Amino acid sequence: MENLTVEEITQAVGGKLLCGDPQTVISYISIDSRDIQENTLFTPIIGERVDAHKFISQVFEAGAKAAFTSRGEIVDRSKPHILVENTEAALGDLAVYYRSKFPVPVVGITGSVGKTSTKEMIAAALSSRYNVLKTAGNQNSNIGVPLTLFRLGPEHEIAVVEMGISDFGEMDALVRFAGPRTAVVTNIGVAHIGILKTQENIMNEKLKIAQNFQPGQPFYLNGNDPMLKIAASNYPENARLFGHAENGKQCDFTYYAKDMYIRDGMEHFTFVWPQGETQVVIRQLGVHNVNNAVVAMAIAMEYGIDPETAAGGLYGYEGVAMRQQINHLKDGIKVIDDTYNASPDSIKSGIEVLKLLDNPGRKIAVLADVLELGDMSRQCHYDTGCFVAQSGIDEVVTVGEEMKALVEAVREHAPHMLASNFSCNADAAEYLKKIVKPGDAFLVKGSRGMRQEEIVKALKEYL
Ligand code: ATP
Ligand code: MG
Repeated sequence: MENLTVEEITQAVGGKLLCGDPQTVISYISIDSRDIQENTLFTPIIGERVDAHKFISQVFEAGAKAAFTSRGEIVDRSKPHILVENTEAALGDLAVYYRSKFPVPVVGITGSVGKTSTKEMIAAALSSRYNVLKTAGNQNSNIGVPLTLFRLGPEHEIAVVEMGISDFGEMDALVRFAGPRTAVVTNIGVAHIGILKTQENIMNEKLKIAQNFQPGQPFYLNGNDPMLKIAASNYPENARLFGHAENGKQCDFTYYAKDMYIRDGMEHFTFVWPQGETQVVIRQLGVHNVNNAVVAMAIAMEYGIDPETAAGGLYGYEGVAMRQQINHLKDGIKVIDDTYNASPDSIKSGIEVLKLLDNPGRKIAVLADVLELGDMSRQCHYDTGCFVAQSGIDEVVTVGEEMKALVEAVREHAPHMLASNFSCNADAAEYLKKIVKPGDAFLVKGSRGMRQEEIVKALKEYL
């Protein structure tokens, strides 16, 4: 982060300096009391459980130079305390100010699933020519996006920013912070339907990512997503459909993949754009990853990178930890570690990858509860069970209360498929250790709170 003075920061957020030297220099913004670096301004966030104002004296002792406060309590007169109405809002206002110093184009990515994966692929393709700033990990919220923008520096030529929402109005804030010049919506699923209630609401909130677009500014929409394909007609001057041609059918998307095949555990496809075609190879499996790669190619070309160079950048991309990462264990056993998170949509893509593995043994999905589905939870788990029942895999092992509905659907629609439910990871891991055989392949997936990495760890230790 470039240096800012406390005076400048106070003005940018419309705050009031309660004490301390206004010329104090700040070059790092932290919201975490354990993360205090040189010249840190601490932003205490008031969470559901903890009000981080209680850490202000501790962060000053650890060397923080200044702090925002909405409580107004002064803990050390020698250190600048900037009084603001709301510390989270101040973080956002400061991000808007800071971003305005670096007028680089921002590529904003939203969607129900695949944001992080797509962000990484776009960054990989753009990095073949540019110095790219990208969201670290999954910092996609109204706190994460400002923290991403504070990492902008004069060396950056373009930024790739993940923008995740779970409630009404959140996208307006993210757009104000990031000001995207190019936007992507990966798909519309049911993640966060507990709060947003309907898929229409989920879509409309996500489409707001392009609310300030001028005619001609590209808005990439996944054409294989039925809702987004229809929505594209509302953006005649902006929408660019991307995706893959379905089984030998003609495809009318602006950018798409055709002739896909798997060799050596990698997806190969022909990338088609309005004026030509290029061969692309990615180290990931599944059409969803092909779609992510297609939009990465399209955006690289939008920013003047020739397709061969962009494809080279994509080929170097190794995947993101805990997202469909294929582990090769002994005796030809494979474990797809997809434990970062789960939604009904990403369970489907995970099962597609499980099916694509060329292992000689059984295909077993280990699935734990998908959280945050609210009133829709039972129905969503049941529907996912119907999908699992038709998928042709050999067995499903589940963990958690909500997964009982999935097991019920599997038993109803595929009585021959083995389906079990365990109340905790330890019991499921014990069971898996008993049944595993050489050549088996496992998909392990569940919501973050279900800590399915414990299952992956148990399998790795055992094998
Ligand atoms: P979060 O809301 O947690 O930030 P996200 O939108 O960033 O999620 P990822 O972390 O990229 O999503 O991926 C979540 C899961 O979905 C992973 O298992 C990933 O491999 C899979 N996935 C990636 N891209 C797609 C896609 N386009 N469609 C469906 N599933 C996808
Ligand atoms: Mg993400």
